[in-house]
Amino acid sequence: MKKASPLMSPQEINLFFEHLSSRNPNPQGELHSTNAFTLLIAVVLSAQATDKGVNKATPALFKVADTPQKMLALGEEGLKSYIKTIGLYNSKARNIIALSQRLIDDFGGKVPGTREDLESLPGVGRKTANVVLNAAFHHAVIAVDTHIFRVSNRTGLAFGKTPLEVEKALMKRIPPKWLLKAHHWLVLHGRYICKARLPLCPICPVQNECHYPFKTKAVG
Ligand code: SF4
Repeated sequence: MKKASPLMSPQEINLFFEHLSSRNPNPQGELHSTNAFTLLIAVVLSAQATDKGVNKATPALFKVADTPQKMLALGEEGLKSYIKTIGLYNSKARNIIALSQRLIDDFGGKVPGTREDLESLPGVGRKTANVVLNAAFHHAVIAVDTHIFRVSNRTGLAFGKTPLEVEKALMKRIPPKWLLKAHHWLVLHGRYICKARLPLCPICPVQNECHYPFKTKAVG
């Protein structure tokens, strides 16, 4: 079995985020959206798909359907014609039409700003709810995706066997001043530097704080 990373100290966690912050003070999510509704739709579409793939399909879709009313007018078959390059598009289309109807029936056509209400929508789980709460409503929450799960366990930032365990550990361990932006910093760090198969340790800005015992070395 691979050796586990020791847990980072509070001082190291602070430095970890200082480094990420100084390189990118205002991290942004990479899914294209124009309002809270299109953000919600983009996040629903991104489940088990790449942001790039979603971003290819959504500009044309959001031109015709950037509100729940317009999405219902487009209808399930119409919606499918815009998203058929995205995995699981049949069930996603069904959920998006159903959630648009729920937004109109129960939330005045607006995206609700609480986790409980968001999770009550078809196709919306904890991770999707947290992304929307963070990016659209500026709540200091973290949506643990595959990148954050890996980076947290690998570096010693926070441990957990499930995304929920990691989320709870991160919420306890990250100082409040970094929490709001931590979600985007960690996703971007995992996507571009601390990659799954070959982390780019020689150019990593947090290599001194990271406790991963198998850091990669510069070649040549
Ligand atoms: S040093 Fe390597 S393993 Fe550690 S955070 Fe950076 S890229 Fe990831």
